[in-house]
Parts: sequence; structure tokens; C-alpha cells
Amino acid sequence: METEPSPIPDEAEMHIGGLLKYSLIDYPPHISCVIFTAGCNFRCPYCHNPELAVTGADTRHLSRNHVMDFLATRKKYLDGAVISGGEPTLHPDLAGFCADLKSMGFLVKLDTNGSRPEVIRELVKNSLVDYLAMDIKTDPELYNQYIAVQADAAALRSSVQIIIESGLAHEFRTTCVHPLITRETLKSIAELVAGADLHAFQHVQNKNVLDPSFFDEQGRVSSDDDMEAFQTLMAGYVKKVIIR
Ligand code: SF4
Repeated sequence: METEPSPIPDEAEMHIGGLLKYSLIDYPPHISCVIFTAGCNFRCPYCHNPELAVTGADTRHLSRNHVMDFLATRKKYLDGAVISGGEPTLHPDLAGFCADLKSMGFLVKLDTNGSRPEVIRELVKNSLVDYLAMDIKTDPELYNQYIAVQADAAALRSSVQIIIESGLAHEFRTTCVHPLITRETLKSIAELVAGADLHAFQHVQNKNVLDPSFFDEQGRVSSDDDMEAFQTLMAGYVKKVIIR
């Protein structure tokens, strides 16, 4: 990931914390770059981008112009651009940024934690994204306990519905870590995302995380048997389930 110092940003401009110039795995089957926005309103203990999550949306490492200049040289080689985080929907210029990417001919994939349904709704309404990927961390009613004191369960539920009803390709993603994901919490999640295109379960990475002490307790990492049980349960609710 590339970073460089940057002047103080103006308030409206995207705050970009990093750029992965080439990826075959973040927007399959497309070749894409990944643009990481800085700042997140959640604090997932297993977050493996802590430097992006905790910097706050007032910190930026790459200028918007730098990223656009780079993309202008890659139009022939990249199909799409993934906007990831941090949490992209916190940034007031996200819609303008997506519009610029679309006008350059890129497919746009948005990774989001789902906390800002009104932003997702506007992006869908204005045809500014082509693919939506939302993390589901646990039962929405438990976010306040594990993810963020201010988490709004209704907003999360609303984002899920907007995404499923968007008509766009989409996926939901769940990192399997105890006790956020158990067979009980997964039942609630499955009912929430029923009808979705794809649900991806992800193994947790417990290195370089936001809260390393979270992993001091034994049994945080879901076993392969648990992952397979999650996959089986979810298969009854969505069109496709994978384990990454
Ligand atoms: S995992 Fe995502 S939503 Fe959670 S703190 Fe990190 S960037 Fe934010």
C-alpha cells in the first residue's frame, strides 16, 4: 500500500489513507485497484486496518488528485475501483468521487460497514456504484456491546434492505469470531440477509489488529467445524455462500 504526506485537506475532499494499485481478489472477476479511505466510526476489535480506522476522518495520506492522476494512467489495465476503508460513507465527497471514477469508465465497488444507509441509498439512486459489499459483524442488536457504542441497529437493518433491493450485484461478509458470531447470532444474521446474492464468511486474522488483547481469551477464533456449520445454516437463506 502506498502512502505519502499531503497538505491539510479541505473539508469536502475525500480523505484517502492508502492505495493498492492492482488486485485480482477484491472485485472478482475484475482487475481493480483499492482505494482506502481514512477514518471509521466503528471499533471492531479484530480490525486489521487499525491505522486507517483510528486516524479519524480528518487525516489523509494521499491526495485525491494523486489518486485520480494514477487512475488516468491505468484506464487500459484496470476494470474497476474498490472504495474501502476505514468507512467510505463518512466522507461527504464520496458521491462526487464515485461519479469521477464512473466518468473515467471504471466499475465502482463500495465496501461499507452499513452504518450510513442514507449515503448508500443516494449512491444507488444516482447509479454511482456497481457492486455493494457490506460487513455484518454480529446481530445488529449486539453492535453496541462489541463494535461501537453509538451503533444504530435500525440503520444497519436499513442498509441491508437497500442493498438487497438495489438490483445491483452485492454481498454480505461476516468475519467469524466468538462471541460475535455463534450459531445463535448467525440465525439472526441469516434472517436479516435472506434473499441476498452472496454471503461470504471470513477467517479472522488475529495479527496487527485494533485490539490485540481481545485475542488473549481462548476460543475467539471460530473452528473449521463452526465455519462449515455457519455455511450450512446460511445456505438456506441466500443464493450463494462461500468461505474465504
Ligand atoms: S473492520 Fe472495518 S468497520 Fe471495523 S473498525 Fe475496521 S475499518 Fe471500521
